[in-house]
Amino acid sequence: MRKNIVAGNWKMNTTLQQGVELALEVKNLLTEKPNCEIVLGVPFVHLASVVDAVKGSSISVSAENCADKESGAYTGEVSAAMVRSTGAQYVILGHSERRAYYSETNDILKEKVLLALKNDLKPIFCIGEVKAEREAGTQNEVVKTQLEKSVFNLSSEDFGKIVLAYEPVWAIGTGLTATPEQAQQMHAYIRGLIAEKYGKAVAENTSILYGGSCNAQNAASLFANADVDGGLIGGASLKAADFKAIIDAR
Ligand code: PEP
Repeated sequence: MRKNIVAGNWKMNTTLQQGVELALEVKNLLTEKPNCEIVLGVPFVHLASVVDAVKGSSISVSAENCADKESGAYTGEVSAAMVRSTGAQYVILGHSERRAYYSETNDILKEKVLLALKNDLKPIFCIGEVKAEREAGTQNEVVKTQLEKSVFNLSSEDFGKIVLAYEPVWAIGTGLTATPEQAQQMHAYIRGLIAEKYGKAVAENTSILYGGSCNAQNAASLFANADVDGGLIGGASLKAADFKAIIDAR
């Protein structure tokens, strides 16, 4: 049975002190075990402290990126092994902001995914089309290429360790959300591609999250779809009460 997951992506927000406070607030709001796994995606410098802050709860911690190199003379980079050594269990890879602003190609992302898995980190791998691609009706091909070039090289055992996040780029931080029908259509398409490549059992076990202006108001209608297994939440994960409301919608 695949997991339901609600993951926050704090991006480049909060100082260390604010981040620890936010993590504690989320932890304290989760009075009972939610019906899904909760992941906090936080900046590198917050990782060890947030891992510590959420100890004793069911919350997992994720980095928002890791290097495409194992170790060595790459000033300023943070390796998958370093991330794992903080106690973090996940790493968000392929986010559209990394693809767009830091020129992360499908090939670079393929390396990052391999290094994450080698270091026992579970990738939350983001895919999705930009507005012009949606308007041209090419969203399915775009997503298929992203999968083929970065993760369909994995063995089925390794593929079984990754989480996918469908994030239409036109919906990220814009207030525009995919309709529940658009989300379900794409998620079912993605699951179909996984089934073709790895078989039905692997496809049925893969958690596919939706991301893009998901909030307390629209989360329930998005999560109600059969192939939507939770969300990757940006802006709304920065307020504990909003994030909790989204968790409750799952
Ligand atoms: C994201 O950055 O992954 C995201 C979904 O952002 P937002 O929820 O703010 O659109």
